[in-house]
Amino acid sequence: MDLLIQTIKEEGIVLSDSVLKVDSFLNHQINPRLMYEIGKEFSNRFKEDRITKILTIESSGIAPSVMTGLQLDVPVIFARKKKSLTLVNDLLTAKVYSFTKQESNDISVSNKYLNEKDRVLIIDDFLANGQAAIGLAEIVKQANAEIAGIGIVIEKGFQNGGQLLREQGLRVESLARIHSLDNGEVSFIKDGTK
Ligand code: 5GP
Repeated sequence: MDLLIQTIKEEGIVLSDSVLKVDSFLNHQINPRLMYEIGKEFSNRFKEDRITKILTIESSGIAPSVMTGLQLDVPVIFARKKKSLTLVNDLLTAKVYSFTKQESNDISVSNKYLNEKDRVLIIDDFLANGQAAIGLAEIVKQANAEIAGIGIVIEKGFQNGGQLLREQGLRVESLARIHSLDNGEVSFIKDGTK
């Protein structure tokens, strides 16, 4: 997606050979116009897939998910990372090891919002080793719902998450795919290549 790639080139900060900071448009400050375009792109890619719900994880998955939900006209659920006093009963849960925080969190979703009739599009901001997406997929399975696909804003192709998910037969659509962050530079995988 050209606008996204352009924004990463202009605003992304390479923190190390494996971490990209995108605080100016996705992870802290949010660029609504870009999120809107991201929502349109995901919606175009999944519009034939009879999606009934979008599932993401707080907090950075929420903005692109809401814009996609708006386009597909379906509700958006975000898995919570912390236990909440108002979210205690009938929870679907999974353990997720966070790549950036280097800690495990139990993520949870109320079973009120997902059931066996749902076809779910999972969305997240980044794909690294796939742990967040696998945790979300686990929650969809616990609800006996179907996974229609996974939408990722930025996939780091040099980490193994994409391969892991695709090997499980899951459809993964990434809007920007990074080949490497070596030497402080972002290089992209061109659309249509593996
Ligand atoms: P995974 O679970 O695929 O290993 O990592 C994905 C999660 O870690 C995303 O939800 C995202 O929050 C975070 N993450 C992974 N890599 C990066 C990165 O390079 N930059 C930022 N900002 N977040 C990342």
